[in-house]
Amino acid sequence: MIKSALAQKNKLSEVVDLNWIEREKRSQWHPFTPMQRWEAAEFEPIFLESGSGIYLEDDQGRKYIDGSSSIWTNVHGHGNQRINEAIIAQLDKVAHTSFLGYTHHNAVILAEALMGYFSGSELKRVFYSDNGSTAVECSLRMSLQYWQFLGHRERKVFISFDKGYHGDTLGAASLNGIPLFNQHKGQDGYEVIVLKEIEDLEQLDESLQRRLAAVIIEPLIQGAAGMRLWPKGMLSQLREWTQKRGILLILDEVMTGFGRTGQMFACQHEGVIPDFLCLAKGLSGGYLPFAATLTTNSVYAAFLDRPEVGKTFYYGHSYTGNQLGCAAAIANLKYFQEADVMGHVKNILPVWEQALEKIQALPMVKEVRHIGLIAGIEVQGFDANQYAGAWICRKALDFGLLTRPILDTVVLMPPLCIQPDEIEIMMKALEKALWVASAELRNL
Ligand SMILES: *Cc1c(COP(=O)(O)O)cnc(C)c1O
Repeated sequence: MIKSALAQKNKLSEVVDLNWIEREKRSQWHPFTPMQRWEAAEFEPIFLESGSGIYLEDDQGRKYIDGSSSIWTNVHGHGNQRINEAIIAQLDKVAHTSFLGYTHHNAVILAEALMGYFSGSELKRVFYSDNGSTAVECSLRMSLQYWQFLGHRERKVFISFDKGYHGDTLGAASLNGIPLFNQHKGQDGYEVIVLKEIEDLEQLDESLQRRLAAVIIEPLIQGAAGMRLWPKGMLSQLREWTQKRGILLILDEVMTGFGRTGQMFACQHEGVIPDFLCLAKGLSGGYLPFAATLTTNSVYAAFLDRPEVGKTFYYGHSYTGNQLGCAAAIANLKYFQEADVMGHVKNILPVWEQALEKIQALPMVKEVRHIGLIAGIEVQGFDANQYAGAWICRKALDFGLLTRPILDTVVLMPPLCIQPDEIEIMMKALEKALWVASAELRNL
């Protein structure tokens, strides 16, 4: 026993002596990452250590602008005093308590605050979970069961859109219009039909329309598709189409929620109220994995009955309603009010748009797609197998900008607290990276 414990200890200390990069590569498996490349000797992963405002700092003391808000999560910058304080204050009380059979004040405060953005509407119920995929998962399960309880078992077809992205759990992934992300479609007693555009709805015959449970869409802009914008008015048209036929509408605002598009929620641009609103990423200000699915009283009411009838929504996670997540989300929403964040966004949009116009004018830029503080900059003139987007983002690091591409589209989605001079600095860094990367790629 003693001997093996000693051997164990020696093994540990041997690992401790390795340098960080080697230890990292020996121990980690990263999401969405070709690990063979990650492990390659020439690749040096960046260890992010701290953050303040729009900046992140690595373990070598290098500073970067967080150009994609830590994969679209961060809202008011890193180290926001108010959110920090709220989490610490909550920690002093309790970090987590079960939401199965118990409740707490923060859950109520947060639900009321979220529904406050849709006051006067039918959105009157909030179901918490942990991430964007589970927020979508809830909406799927609720839709299917809703129809079942109403005596419409045939309504189990979901409509989603080409190149849409809704998450990675089996249910959420089955909706994805990106083939790479939905290799399990059609296994769960429901069907998914992926349409290219809203006009395709008119091609669905009557009998199929009667089997529809819900339509799901990323409103106004598809994120993972490379920041693809929907035509203006499309969302309200879709709402009209679903409403006419009594079909549920699920809006996946996991990316677009919390001010990114220039409105608090993307659906507000077109005055649309869905039957389900899925929120995650920015809900906690980008601090903690926390999500919410908002729905209507009429969906909720379908689940009300004596327990033995079996209409209970048997779904949830151990960390549902997490106290720290709720506290962070409340502080996030309060900060929007206190600091007039949406007013700030409106004020800086002209600077942002002007800077993007300059980027658009560069010869290697094919198209700039943007709404609010979200932009996708698609480059041209490179072979697909050159991974130009990734190359540009690697060069951008040298100029102090950290962001991630989607194929040949470089994404810029800074925290909402960005100031006009910081926008200039960020765009300068991108421009330099575009020129350097282009020169290098053309010489290969
Ligand atoms: C990121 C994202 C998801 C998935 O959220 P996770 O928290 O990563 O599970 C779902 N839908 C959209 C639109 C997203 O951008």
